[in-house]
Amino acid sequence: MTDVYDVAIIGMGAVGTATGFLLAEFTNVQSLLFLEKENSAGQIASDRRTNSQTRHPFGGELNYSPKVMKAIKRYSDMIPSYANSEYGRGYDILRRTKSAMVLAVGRNEKEYLEKKFHDTVKPVFPYAELMEDKEEIAKLEPYIVRGRKKEEKIGIIKLQADIVDFGELARSFEDNARRHQDKKIHVRFNTRVERIEDVSNGYKIYIPNSGSFSARYLVVSAGSYSLSFAKQLGLGGDFVAFPVAGKFYTSPSVINGKVYTFQEEGVPFAATHADREWDGAVTRYGPTATPTLMFERNRPDIKEFIDNLDPVLLDTVISKKAIRNIMIKNIAYSVPGMGRHLFWKYEARKIVPSIAYADLKPAPEFGGIRTVGINKRTRELKLGEFTLPEVPKDGVNICANMAPSPGASGCLGIAYKNVVKITRALGLDFYDEKLTKVFGTMPS
Ligand SMILES: Cc1cc2nc3c(=O)[nH]c(=O)nc-3n(C[C@H](O)[C@H](O)[C@H](O)COP(=O)(O)OP(=O)(O)OC[C@H]3O[C@@H](n4cnc5c(N)ncnc54)[C@H](O)[C@@H]3O)c2cc1C
Repeated sequence: MTDVYDVAIIGMGAVGTATGFLLAEFTNVQSLLFLEKENSAGQIASDRRTNSQTRHPFGGELNYSPKVMKAIKRYSDMIPSYANSEYGRGYDILRRTKSAMVLAVGRNEKEYLEKKFHDTVKPVFPYAELMEDKEEIAKLEPYIVRGRKKEEKIGIIKLQADIVDFGELARSFEDNARRHQDKKIHVRFNTRVERIEDVSNGYKIYIPNSGSFSARYLVVSAGSYSLSFAKQLGLGGDFVAFPVAGKFYTSPSVINGKVYTFQEEGVPFAATHADREWDGAVTRYGPTATPTLMFERNRPDIKEFIDNLDPVLLDTVISKKAIRNIMIKNIAYSVPGMGRHLFWKYEARKIVPSIAYADLKPAPEFGGIRTVGINKRTRELKLGEFTLPEVPKDGVNICANMAPSPGASGCLGIAYKNVVKITRALGLDFYDEKLTKVFGTMPS
């Protein structure tokens, strides 16, 4: 006999668990099923060893327009609201870094930094400060000044930043959802969903050995695999998945907080930055951005890669100059031996000039995959997050979320938008007032 749930959620990263938490806590949903192929929540992209742990935006994302900066900030601010509320008690989710900045090296970058400071950063982050005095900068981060050539000019925007353990956040969402003993909330770990199907009054979800579940509404927050699940239901045909590996290098701990560098507008990845690791043991440099066959770290998936192959992929990478340049540079960084040397010379030393080559080590224990959606018609790379169907349709009771980067920061925002759609589709109550008490008034 098949269980029928109000809502089933595939994938227990930050996005899927946030959706489950908001549903359980702020609606009158009666039954909820989580399905996760790993043995606990937050093990893939949301794991803190995979991502850079930054709560975006903190002002260092000079590739964002002011509009994008503001929109992402509203949803990202839900994380401290949550972590500092009763829901976050007992979990080590969020810490403020000792320093945070975006660094400009050379005259051109300094001019651009100044422009961005006035146009984009200061209006959204009023406490941001422009600084160019090396002695003052050295008080915040001595190693970005030490060993730098006297004639090399630098400038920074001084900011504040939080680091987030998005894996811990996901596990806390799961726990808070499960506390509702008045509701049927089931969690199935070690359960890989193989296939989904549209049936009358909902969706059927198939797992190995002929098992299946049914749900009236389906949320697919399966990270890199969300798009291929959406395609099983005839959604997302206009998109192709573009998996991009992000690798890191480490050195002994020399950075107190976060030092971001420049990224061109329109490029959906942060440029190399140097970050104090969560436990302070090392400084992490990266992530790189290289096309890959993998959809999750260290797990090549040739079948998924072949299913997803599309001439648009290559055409987009080749025809978009900014993307092409980033990819070529990063492919060079991946070449064994030489790649490490190039990364040391052009990336790590730009931030920490005195770092010795021998101190910069590849760090295979960190890093992961950001799978970006490319719109096949417009060749647009989807930044941040997007959900299919893009426009809600009557009778299509599914949200398929893709959140390549920096999607973890927006997880509660994505979840909120999911829950608005779910409550409308299923005729459920949404406890707006209760939600407002925790998160403030949400954008309509
Ligand atoms: C190198 C790198 C750096 C990043 N830095 C940042 C950063 O600093 N700040 C930030 O906000 N974001 C950052 N991101 C992005 C962030 O990690 C993701 O946006 C976020 O974790 C996505 O959450 P998710 O829940 O969508 O995916 P995930 O956390 O990957 O969760 C998806 C879940 O679905 C499960 N799943 C997949 N397929 C199936 C199946 N068939 N059956 C059952 N379960 C399935 C997976 O096991 C997984 O648990 C970074 C990402 C990378 C790779």
